[in-house]
Amino acid sequence: MGPEVEEFEREFGKFLDAEHAIAVSSGTAAIHLAYLALGLGLGDEVIQPALNFVAAANLTVAVGATPVFADILSLDEPTIDPRDIERRLKPETRAVVVMHYGGYPCRMEEISALCRRYGVALIEDACHAVGARYQGFQEKAPQGKMAGTIGDLGCFSFFSNKNLAIGEGGMVVTNSGELAKRVRLLRSHGMSSLTWDRHRGHASSYDVLTHGYNYRLDEIRAALGRVQLQKLERNNAWRRELVKLYRERLGALEDWTIPFSEYGGDSAYHLMVAVAPNQEERTRVATLLREAQIQTSMHYPLVPAFAAFRDGRAPASATPDAVTDLDQSIAFAQHALTLPLSSSMTVRQVEEVSAVMLEQVEVVR
Ligand SMILES: *Cc1c(COP(=O)(O)O)cnc(C)c1O
Repeated sequence: MGPEVEEFEREFGKFLDAEHAIAVSSGTAAIHLAYLALGLGLGDEVIQPALNFVAAANLTVAVGATPVFADILSLDEPTIDPRDIERRLKPETRAVVVMHYGGYPCRMEEISALCRRYGVALIEDACHAVGARYQGFQEKAPQGKMAGTIGDLGCFSFFSNKNLAIGEGGMVVTNSGELAKRVRLLRSHGMSSLTWDRHRGHASSYDVLTHGYNYRLDEIRAALGRVQLQKLERNNAWRRELVKLYRERLGALEDWTIPFSEYGGDSAYHLMVAVAPNQEERTRVATLLREAQIQTSMHYPLVPAFAAFRDGRAPASATPDAVTDLDQSIAFAQHALTLPLSSSMTVRQVEEVSAVMLEQVEVVR
């Protein structure tokens, strides 16, 4: 954690207009430190989307708290439903986690107001959303905040398949000096001085102020991150063009849903997802695309359906309604198909994927 890490933090914070940016070793480490900085633990409930990567839920259990899974709004807007959050709020609720699916920000003005009203913390799992700007749904705010800076803490991942990729890495952002101080302390063994400061002779000894971890980012990855950050806006703009083209082409698939059709704000365009009319059609089309040597994936199997979250093996089942009424999430998980999308793809490649898909959907009918 020398000058490259410091500069990466400063530049990333400036890019998002966040007061504090703290580099860590992964998105998972970022989420873990966000929970610990808020003091989440035994007896606390954390409302979060069932449709998410498993990290937010795993760490909820890891800190001793209970995940309570909420539904998404619809197949067209697969981000957490603010009314479902409100329905699942209890005196035990200490935090809400939102995830900006595919890079499209959640309904943050409703969710922020809700969290303020009930006095619960708001954490953004912004791992899909680096560079997304929230524009609001009710009234288009001309200058929205960046995704990750709206809640109490925002968590980013720089894993190889993310928009800003450095191999392994992550970032916690916050505008709270108090939370930032705790995250920094927990990131490196709870030690009162850093190896780098001692190396420079700025400190000779240290104390251990809390039980921390080694979630540091190293200089090499920070240097990569600084260069990747320079390219981010250009890369995201190219992703936007590719998504626009996909939408135009795949609009011909009558029974399919291309999510966020009405979305007017600025996404990070992390994923290109198409939702099939039924599970059989998704399986058929995925198989046929594979035969055409086109890779697809699924974002995501539902978290509460995983073995570790079923049958009393995680505290989720201790809450009777923790995993009920997730109809939209269940349908989405069964029907959604993630198509190839990256900033290095070409127009021709998007045309090719779309053509194969259109042809094959016709054929299977
Ligand atoms: C990638 C990802 C994570 C985890 O990040 P890592 O850097 O792989 O630990 C968490 N949440 C979401 C939504 C992600 O996409």
